[in-house]
Amino acid sequence: MTSGRRTLVWFRGKDLRLSDHAPLTDALQDGELIPLFVLDPYFFAPARARELPHRMQFLLESLEALRSNIAHLGSELLLAAGKSVDVVPRLAERFRVTRVVAQRWSEPFGRERDRRITAALRVPFELFGGETLAAPETVRNGSGQPFSVFTPFARALRRDLPEVRVLPAPKRLPPLPPDVRFESAPMPTLSSLGIEANPKLQGGGERAARQRLKEFVAAAAEHYDARRDRMDLPGTSRLSADLKFGTLCVRTVWSAVSALQAEAPAAITTYTNELLWREFTHATLWDRPHLLERPFREDFEGFPWGFDEEGWHAWITGKTGYPVVDAAARQLMAEGFVHNRARMIAASFLTKHQLIHYRHGEAHYLKYLTDGDWAQNNAGWQWSAGCGTDAQPYFRVFNPTLQGEKFDPNGDYVRRWVPELAALPAKLIHRPHEAPAKALASAGVELGKTYPTPIVEHALARDRFLKVADSYLKAQPARPR
Ligand SMILES: Cc1cc2nc3c(=O)[nH]c(=O)nc-3n(C[C@H](O)[C@H](O)[C@H](O)COP(=O)(O)OP(=O)(O)OC[C@H]3O[C@@H](n4cnc5c(N)ncnc54)[C@H](O)[C@@H]3O)c2cc1C
Repeated sequence: MTSGRRTLVWFRGKDLRLSDHAPLTDALQDGELIPLFVLDPYFFAPARARELPHRMQFLLESLEALRSNIAHLGSELLLAAGKSVDVVPRLAERFRVTRVVAQRWSEPFGRERDRRITAALRVPFELFGGETLAAPETVRNGSGQPFSVFTPFARALRRDLPEVRVLPAPKRLPPLPPDVRFESAPMPTLSSLGIEANPKLQGGGERAARQRLKEFVAAAAEHYDARRDRMDLPGTSRLSADLKFGTLCVRTVWSAVSALQAEAPAAITTYTNELLWREFTHATLWDRPHLLERPFREDFEGFPWGFDEEGWHAWITGKTGYPVVDAAARQLMAEGFVHNRARMIAASFLTKHQLIHYRHGEAHYLKYLTDGDWAQNNAGWQWSAGCGTDAQPYFRVFNPTLQGEKFDPNGDYVRRWVPELAALPAKLIHRPHEAPAKALASAGVELGKTYPTPIVEHALARDRFLKVADSYLKAQPARPR
């Protein structure tokens, strides 16, 4: 060692990039560095990896890209297999590092892991920002308490956010110290994990992410407010998996998009507000780690959600008889992505029309979404079910037909994902069950054969949900929120 300083830079799945990577930038100014990724069986045991096939595909591509970018700059990403709580302290000792650095990780199990590693290490373990714009525990209301409602949270965050500074990618990295000899574990492949590659997923890696950001800023960002709810148009950024796996830092996205603020103020404010929703979900989970198990609204605890095998099967396979709900289900399985509006409609349908517990839907989305994220997904499901923060009020029940007509007015979203309805005209495509026999026949649709009749009738399902919810909630003692 030259300066006597040596840092283990631990990349860990939410920071798979070289640019705007605070731990790496800090380590570069502090002597030698050793980049490490741990193949923890928590994610990489084949049985576990198969529970997250789309995320795993994106992650492996991003990890391979990171390894190659690090090699290109002159260093080497070491891959170590084993539990992080064992591997990191062991390697820190073996490589005689003076500290370990990583990006913060706000979910409860990540925090517990970090606590255990801090206790096991004999050198400092320093955690840096970058997962979110603001450290979750710093956004507080006037009484120093966490916010429960988005709007004041967003206002406070905007007000207090220091200037967002993007850290440039290093031009070169120092080679591994000569005494560090380590045989990396082999890079897992999808086939070694027993996962079939899905060619329709977004590609992972930092370069693909930067390209997506560039294209969004160049074309769609200025129309974001007008187009974001349209399921048939490419009006959103499609950066959610990049933000999830850290192939882009949220600071980079915020800063690139904010550069258009003067040109398109309404669009950019709407977009940055969505990034603040992301902050809100992470901050909320930070302060209330029990939300992965329990509803935010305590009066919903014990709510009589049910489960019925047939209804569940119809929902996950896209055969409910409601075209938008079915399109969402099929887009998820095909692309590992669902448009936000379609997520809201589908989640509302499962929980309110079908009375199926939101946790089933949450787990299904977490399994197949490439952007599947504990905080954001849980918040999305609880919001849709009416039991979350700043909830969609439980008594507001989306009408899937009207939602479809409003946000997919030409029916192209449905045409893409439910091709058996493609020949129906726009005014009927969201309501095939009400279409005249002649129109159905000329579009080649046979209800009950080529496309199902609705599994529940909207008005009946709505009334049933409201009755169940009203009588359950009225019987609950008033509880603090
Ligand atoms: C039931 C349900 C489940 C969801 N599960 C997830 C999930 O697992 N992972 C996930 O990233 N998002 C989730 N969302 C939020 C949202 O649907 C996606 O972030 C968005 O569709 C991603 O597309 P985009 O990148 O084009 O978004 P854009 O519209 O371009 O938004 C930019 C970014 O802001 C963030 N964002 C946008 N909307 C929300 C929101 N409502 N809550 C929190 N952050 C938001 C995302 O990081 C997104 O990439 C869920 C929403 C619902 C209703």
